[in-house]
Amino acid sequence: MLDFLSAQWDMATSSMSANVVVPAANVLGMAQSLGDPREVSQAILIAALQLFLIACVMRPLESLVPAERWENRRHTTVDRNFTLLMLLGLFPLFSFIVLMPVAHLLGGGPASDEVNGLKAWVPWFADHPYALFVVYYLVYDCVYYWMHRAQHAVPWWWAMHSMHHSQRQMSCWSNDRSNYVDGMLQSIILASVGLVMGVEVSEFAWLSLLSELVQNFSHANVALRLGWVGRLGERLFVGPRFHRNHHMLRDPERPERHNCNFGQVLPWWDQLFGTALYHCESLRETGVSDPQVDADNERGVVSMQWHSTRRFWGAVTCRAGWRMGDVSFDSDYQPIHDSIAPNKGVVAKIRESGGMSSPKD
Ligand SMILES: [Zn+2]
Ligand SMILES: [Zn+2]
Repeated sequence: MLDFLSAQWDMATSSMSANVVVPAANVLGMAQSLGDPREVSQAILIAALQLFLIACVMRPLESLVPAERWENRRHTTVDRNFTLLMLLGLFPLFSFIVLMPVAHLLGGGPASDEVNGLKAWVPWFADHPYALFVVYYLVYDCVYYWMHRAQHAVPWWWAMHSMHHSQRQMSCWSNDRSNYVDGMLQSIILASVGLVMGVEVSEFAWLSLLSELVQNFSHANVALRLGWVGRLGERLFVGPRFHRNHHMLRDPERPERHNCNFGQVLPWWDQLFGTALYHCESLRETGVSDPQVDADNERGVVSMQWHSTRRFWGAVTCRAGWRMGDVSFDSDYQPIHDSIAPNKGVVAKIRESGGMSSPKD
């Protein structure tokens, strides 16, 4: 079965490469700088597969078994645009015009026969590629967990990451709603881990597809009732209920409660480091309590990038932006620590009093 699938995949890659990528690269005069056309084809097919699974599996599930019932999906439109832009434009561009040439320059990538990273340190791994993949994945996911905690704790990083959290309608499209400076910073950190450990570029593509799919699903507005299978599943992998708790709107009564569930694919790090929260007494609304950040909901793709990058600049250029702790932003994009001016659940209170439209359970 696996052999059959891999043969089909090879055929699709070759056909895409010969009929689309090579002719397009020749027309654009990029044949030299693009690298291996089969890798480009593989990335395009992976993006198409991901888009198909989101649109044709996860999206219908949101209608069938929704966690939150919405009157309309107005706030999800911008997230869908972010996903389309990322999968069809920015990801391939970034991979093949920035990441790949840098990897080749550093001696990595497909042109290199050199054994490096973990395989060089522990030769046993050279004969056990699946074990290597598992170890690499564990390190990758653990690095992601700590990076994600920093995104919440360091004000200049939160300035950007808060854009991902500002959505009031969390859906299968929400994963790609993020600031691009933040995205680049994260890619550099995670790709460096890959380079140090000696992961091949083709393995990296599959690795990111797997994590991306788990993340798309963990943002989906679905409530699957799978009994003990579901309970076991969410102990092993991050699922929609687990990640929804991470996105919960700050509870004015318990302002620290949303500081939980930072895991990307494996919830094990949260279990290990004491940040896992599995059950809330009721379904929580998602979003942020800071009105300056919540204003993202009335913005489009470009405007959201602009405002979150201004927040980042406002924070990274001042002392308060480097002091760990929860912050809100003033109208000049400067961070104000909650310890100085508490802003615990302002938006929650405005929404409760009916002053702001919000999804209802
Ligand atoms: Zn987060
Ligand atoms: Zn998220």
